[in-house]
Amino acid sequence: MRRDTQVLHGYQYQIDKTGASSLPVFMSSTFIHESTTNMNEYLYSRVKNPTREAVEQTVAMLEEASRGFGFSSGMAAIATVMEVFEPGSHIISTADLFGGSIRLFTNITKRHGLEFDFVDTGDIAAIEAKIKPTTKGIYLESPSNPMAHVTDIKAVCETVKGRGIIVLVDNTVMSPYFQNPISLGADIVIHSGTKYLSGHSDALAGFAVLNDQALIEKLEFLHTSIGATLSPMDAFLVSRGIKTLALRVEKAEQNAMKIANWLQNHPRIKSVNYTGLPTHPGHNIMKQQSRGFGSLMSFEVDSETTARNIVERTKIIKYAESLGCVNSLITLPVLATHVDVPENERTARGITNSLVRFSVGIENAEDLMEDLEQAMG
Ligand SMILES: *Cc1c(COP(=O)(O)O)cnc(C)c1O
Repeated sequence: MRRDTQVLHGYQYQIDKTGASSLPVFMSSTFIHESTTNMNEYLYSRVKNPTREAVEQTVAMLEEASRGFGFSSGMAAIATVMEVFEPGSHIISTADLFGGSIRLFTNITKRHGLEFDFVDTGDIAAIEAKIKPTTKGIYLESPSNPMAHVTDIKAVCETVKGRGIIVLVDNTVMSPYFQNPISLGADIVIHSGTKYLSGHSDALAGFAVLNDQALIEKLEFLHTSIGATLSPMDAFLVSRGIKTLALRVEKAEQNAMKIANWLQNHPRIKSVNYTGLPTHPGHNIMKQQSRGFGSLMSFEVDSETTARNIVERTKIIKYAESLGCVNSLITLPVLATHVDVPENERTARGITNSLVRFSVGIENAEDLMEDLEQAMG
């Protein structure tokens, strides 16, 4: 089955016997047992819910994993997954990480006895240099957000193979349609289902998918015990969103490519961070490890005033957090995702006051460019 068919028909829903063509929403916290010897496998919805299960298996299938876990948000997925590590574990992470993950790791996960090193994971030697006997995990985002740094996922996995190190990839920015880290050797793939998977800014969701049986059992225990699980209604919205994943991400990517090329030659633009541009340093690795470049970019404008004008004056493009939904969203990382990252650290990573992040939607590309043009003045 090809990927655009797979998003619609890949997971055959088994539980419902009515023939419903859309996923039923099981709004039930508990499930009735037949008898003490014939207990209901669905027990209680924190443990297992049929609507959530269908979506978990869909995301797992799309990521070439055998098992998926649905969480109440992307952050809930990340926080729960990090509990697989014992206190004292050392984790090497991509430096240009989603702001919420940095906040979680440095303020909360650290208190559970985990130690972090943030490096440019695009540089294998930089990872090697940080590996020590207590290193138990490598946490990656590629391309990163907002700077679009690319990590060679396969090379990282090969480097740490057989050393007892778990490779985790937050694949939110690419969606499973464009990139499958497990096929490149990663152990756990994480998604904020709030973004491309649901795609319409109407649900909060997170996923973790994997193949390793011992890790599956650990995560199953954590998922149920911590209880930050995906609600049936949000699970339904994600399942509905996934049906059009192929159409949405392909159109958004076509738009992103046109807009990145246009921005690159615009007098008010200093630089464009988009992996689809052949001049991007990670472009060739992207061509090897992904089937596309996605639709998230950032660009540096000539001044902070221009950056503020853009987010305040665009009309079609909305000034809002989040990414990966049908409509275009624009934001200033310094005021949003990276507001908790100290300024010197931010600037060192290129996240300046004149950096704009743009999640390109599925509108007409000409309308989006005209909107940006009038906003920049
Ligand atoms: C949004 C996002 C998250 C967090 O997901 P929520 O659903 O908002 O909790 C994690 N990683 C990345 C890359 C994201 O963009």
